[in-house]
Formats: sequence, structure tokens, C-alpha cells
Amino acid sequence: MNFGRILRRSATYWPDQEAAVDKRRRLTYRQLETETNRLVSGLMALGFQAGNHVAIQAPNCTELVSAELAFYKGAMVKVPINARLSGEETVHVINDSHAVALIASAQHAAALESRRSEMPRLKTIIVIGDGPGDLTYDDLLAKGTDDFEPLDPADDDLAVLHYTSGSSGVLKAAMQSYGNRRALLRKNLINPRGTGKAFNTVLGHVGPITHASGMMILPNIYMGGSNVLFDRFDVEEVLSTIEKERINRIFFVPTMVTRILASGLVGKYDLSSLTSLTYGAAPMPPAVVRQAMETFGPILSQGYGAGETTSTVTILTSDDHIDALAGDGKRLASCGRSYFENEVLVLKEDGTEAKPGELGEICIRGPEIMQGYWNAPDLTAEVLQDGLYHTGDIAVTDDEGYVFIVDRKKEMIISGGFNVYPSEVEKVLYTHPAVFEAAVIGVPDDEWGEAVKAVVVTRKGHDLSEAQVLDYCREHLPGFKRPRSVDFATELPRNPNGKIVRRQLRDAYWKDAERK
Ligand code: AMP
Repeated sequence: MNFGRILRRSATYWPDQEAAVDKRRRLTYRQLETETNRLVSGLMALGFQAGNHVAIQAPNCTELVSAELAFYKGAMVKVPINARLSGEETVHVINDSHAVALIASAQHAAALESRRSEMPRLKTIIVIGDGPGDLTYDDLLAKGTDDFEPLDPADDDLAVLHYTSGSSGVLKAAMQSYGNRRALLRKNLINPRGTGKAFNTVLGHVGPITHASGMMILPNIYMGGSNVLFDRFDVEEVLSTIEKERINRIFFVPTMVTRILASGLVGKYDLSSLTSLTYGAAPMPPAVVRQAMETFGPILSQGYGAGETTSTVTILTSDDHIDALAGDGKRLASCGRSYFENEVLVLKEDGTEAKPGELGEICIRGPEIMQGYWNAPDLTAEVLQDGLYHTGDIAVTDDEGYVFIVDRKKEMIISGGFNVYPSEVEKVLYTHPAVFEAAVIGVPDDEWGEAVKAVVVTRKGHDLSEAQVLDYCREHLPGFKRPRSVDFATELPRNPNGKIVRRQLRDAYWKDAERK
């Protein structure tokens, strides 16, 4: 499980097969092997060495793939920085992570130019293309050599500092070791029933590969597949590229699926190459899953995981989707069952296992659980005890162990002493034909402590009033879960990974109020 030697082997087996493709370049396995050797030896020629933390920030591009593999070859620590972070957040991540070098797109390098003095540890900025920096990506390649014998990091060595998107509010880094990443690879090579074909796969990467969307790159490299990179999400571009590149597998976050379905453009393109569509990273309402299955066919699967768990820890396979649709449809609301080596437990407050139907917190043990949060022992102790990671996600299971996420522990609304999980209410709102998107929050209320409020984005071409939304909820929800008021918005706030940030909506209402 030496990632460098795995790439070399793929380059020997399939030298002319395309490994990474973007709008500017198409790299074969032979070229990727040479480019990664040049990159890692170039970094070493600059004085960097194994164990150094090297940051990278750019929209999806072939250079990101090369850099990741080069860092593995040199036993370095990758610090991926989401391309959508602000300049201030980027400076914070660079300082917090102790990064000594940064490989950045021209646009990101330019954004940091005037802030160089704020990052005393950062020695070198390497710019992709033309832009301000100490040297260009091509200069770095020119400093390197065609051959490089990959180093052999131990399982405990740090591989990635994965800054989590901050849905909890604090930007912190999950420490993923080489052992964690090896477990990720092992799991995806086993490739259980229903997750799609393995060999010669053309894999589309739409979300940022610096984060969850990039976790399939290594397994795909192992198997000689091709990685097609999108530098942004545009419905028409995604669909036309699936057609043109004959993409077989693709991963979308739920918002992307919603947007594609709402565009009405699916029928315009030949998507027959697609054999697997995976979604995850946030809940996708069952009504949308159903519509997606009607549109794309029986090829959907779902993954659930977090930065702290390296990658997916439960899956709802495409067979599960097919069975659910043929039956009562209930399992379309599940995120599936434990994936390979991951032990998935739902624990009650007293630490005992919840019985089917009982609420508890999802806790995970296994070879992909992070080593802890970087430089944050207190935060680590809160979530990681004896190798058991407490996700903060509240869930129930059914008789066959399928997990149903109810919501994030911290997002629960307490209204008049009753617990309301926003996603339960959102699921109902999403079944209304005029609702495009919805988020539910708790707002201060003198009588109830917190009252349930819905924030709704109306579907184009539809009219929707507050009274209509409230009436609809009256039909479908018990009294204590019903929204008391509705706000309309043109869009919902999202974090850089595309997840809706309810916290941001809620904060506007809690500015002057103490949370009771
Ligand atoms: P992050 O580490 O930022 O990717 O956030 C991880 C969190 O995203 C999890 O703890 C869940 O709350 C949420 N999440 C990830 N995948 C899913 C999924 N398939 N369904 C529902 N929530 C999910």
C-alpha cells in the first residue's frame, strides 16, 4: 500500500491510458508518473523534505491530482485548502497548519500577495500558470528529475490535515494518517455489490477534490481509471461533459442533484455511459432521491461520512435503492449500513447501544478514524474517546441495521420542551411542489423558548405564500414540529462545500437574545 509504487505500477500497466483530464490538459499515466516524480524531487531540491506540511489551493485541476500523489511519494503532509475560502480564512489555515510551501492557482496566489508578511512560516509559493509567487509550477517541474523512488511512510505518519468545512463553526483540521488513507483505498478496492464497476472507470469530479469529492482518486488510480475534473458546477457543462467524456461514475452533493433536476436539461444529453451516481455529504430529501431515480435510472448510491472519518463510513447501495423503491420507499431516507471495516454504532446518552427505533448518536470505530484534531487536544477529547468517534449526528436504525440520520445534535430545536430536528420538517417542505429549497431553524420565542421557522426558496414559475406553507405543514406534521412562521429567500447560505449553513440563518435572529 505504497501510493507512489501503486502509481508506478498503473503507469507500467496502462502508460497511455488517460489518468487526469481537465479543460487545459489530458495527462496519461506515463505523464502523471513523470510529473509527480518531478514535483516531489523539485520540492526536495528546494530544501523541503518528508514530514513537511505543504498546502494546495486551486479549483479542481490536473495539478491538484499530481500534487497529491507527489506529496504521498515524498511522505509529506498535504494541507488541502478549499478554493472558496476567503483570504483571511486561507491565511488562518496556512498559519494554523504550519504549511511551509503552498501550490496555488494564479488567482489564489494573487489574493495572498499582499498578506505574505502575515504568514511567517510559509517559505515558498508555487503558482500554477502566470501569477505572483516565488516560482511557477513549471519552474518546479524543471528543478525535478524524471525518476524518484517513493518513500515509505509508516501507518501512523500524518498524511493529510483535512480542514473541516466548519459546519460546527470552528475551522479545525482532522489529522488523517497514511494508515487512514490506506484503509480508504482497501475499502474501495473491495468495491462491494452495487457501488459500480471498477476497471477503466471514467470518474467525474464536480465538487472540490481537495475535500470529500477527491477520495475516489486514489482507488481510481490504482485501477487505471480516468479522472475528469470540473473546476466549477454548471448544470449544462456537467451534462455535456458526461456525454462527451463518457463518464461512468460521478459524485454529487444534494444541491447539485436538485439543480440538475430543476434545470429540465437531462433529456437533452446522452447520459447512457453513467453507471453510478453517488450522492452524500448532506441529507438529500427522499422526494429528491425518488425523482433522481426516475430521471437517472437505478444507479444511485449514497455515502455518509465526515472529514474525521477520512471518507464514507456507511453506504446505501444501488440495490438498496432499487429494493426501497419497489417496496414502501422508507429506506430512501436512510444513509445505509456500515461500509467495510467501519463499525457503526448508535449510542444513547448513557453510552449503551440504542435498540432499533431508539434515538442515539452515531459513533464510529475503525481504521479510517482520524488521529485527532491538529493542535486541539480539548476539541479532540470531546469527540474521540478510545478510538470511538462521536459524530454529533443523531439517528435511529431499523431492524436490519439501516441508519436513518435525524439531524445534527447541535441543530436540534427545543420548542416548549419538545425536541424538533430541522431536517424532519425540511423533508416535509421538500415534498411541496412549489418549494425549491428549504431550511428550518429555531428562533427566539417568549412563550416556547424557541419557535420553529422555515426559510423557503420558491421554485421558479411558482407562487407561494406563508399561509400556504403553514397550511401544508399543518396537514403533514404534528403541532409541536410545525413552523410558526416562514421567511422567503432567493437562496440559502452555503459553506464552501455546498452544505446549507442553518447557523448563519439562525444567528440573525439570536443576535440580541440569549439562547434559552
Ligand atoms: P464534513 O466533515 O464537513 O464533511 O461534515 C460531516 C457531516 O456531514 C456529517 O457528520 C453529517 O452531519 C453530514 N453528512 C455527511 N454525509 C451525509 C449523508 N449522506 N446524509 C446526511 N448527512 C450527511
